Amino acid sequence: MKIRSLGLHSLSIPFKVSFRHSSAERTATQSVLAIAETESGELGLGEGCPREYVTGEDVDSCMRLFAAWETELIGEINTLADLERWNRERENQIDENPAAWCAIELALLDVLAKESSQSVESAMGLPELTGPFQYSAVLGDSSVETLEAQVHQYVGLGFTNFKVKVSGDPAIDNRKFAIVTGAAPEARIRLDANNLWRDADAALSYLESIECELFAMEEPLPAMEFDGLLQIARARSLPIILDESFLNRSHFTHISKEPEAFIINLRISKMGGLVRSLQIASEAAEKSIPLIVGAQVGETSILTRAAMTVGNAAGDHVLAREGAFGTLLLERDIVEKPLTFGSMGRLDVSQLLDRNVHGWQMNYDLQNIRSAGSEDLHSLQLPPDSGRL
Ligand SMILES: [Mg+2]
Repeated sequence: MKIRSLGLHSLSIPFKVSFRHSSAERTATQSVLAIAETESGELGLGEGCPREYVTGEDVDSCMRLFAAWETELIGEINTLADLERWNRERENQIDENPAAWCAIELALLDVLAKESSQSVESAMGLPELTGPFQYSAVLGDSSVETLEAQVHQYVGLGFTNFKVKVSGDPAIDNRKFAIVTGAAPEARIRLDANNLWRDADAALSYLESIECELFAMEEPLPAMEFDGLLQIARARSLPIILDESFLNRSHFTHISKEPEAFIINLRISKMGGLVRSLQIASEAAEKSIPLIVGAQVGETSILTRAAMTVGNAAGDHVLAREGAFGTLLLERDIVEKPLTFGSMGRLDVSQLLDRNVHGWQMNYDLQNIRSAGSEDLHSLQLPPDSGRL
């Protein structure tokens, strides 16, 4: 494969509703889109979601990394082995710029697979995607009224697996949990605190007043406070889901002694792409640490699709999947058939992916890419033989 051009662009798609995270509130996506084009006219897309509060990145830092690497990438990446070597040799720089690298790597994987007329899975020696993918309901930290409406929608669709983002006020949160358990008595509920409490004692005293059976708790403390996290896990026999506290494989050293206390929330973007995510998934399996395959709020179908590769390969080690909100959350997506879950929270790959298309197996929507991208994308032109981007 010979790369003709490689670009990184900012991608901003309005949300249908504004989305609140305890660290930020947004009305549009804050993403980067990589576009690779080969000499033979194949086109590949990759996406990354830089988040200051997760990896310390923003769109500008992604652009800086890309500017520094662009020429070498075009000259040096011709095969999957080249891409894997790049991952090894630049591990430290990717640790600092995971979302930027994620976008670039996913676009390169798309074109590498297309050049060999394969899906990304078969190009990487992984099993093809099969069966429906089951997703969790995710309830943001919104008002009780909003949450109640969302719960009824989710329960109406048949969801039984819920992630609830909490406010930290037990009175409010107990009302929210009661709404979920009232509407879905069998619901399996996990809580996401988004780094809410200062220390283990504060988190434990909150848990004392929570009247709901939880199966796990995500990020109660400031990121990387592993001693405090272990203290909570032991005191409550409650597994801790690591999100902001697990970004790359160096973080295994903090959890390997008591793997039963932890679950890793694996999100491709914060982990620096698919190759690294697959390595983390396989090391987690060796250590018997289960995974939740997570998503970025506002991701397009590109990241949803890449997460399916790792979720499929990790099989039974995946406790839950998040994401596939597609156009439920975004005004529009950049593919013709957005990867959005349907009833029971299931996404049927046979309906939404096109086996006749290689790479990510999706037809791209050029019009929407133009309107969502930064100015340099507004006039994006593609060679006439490239089909639909
Ligand atoms: Mg989280």
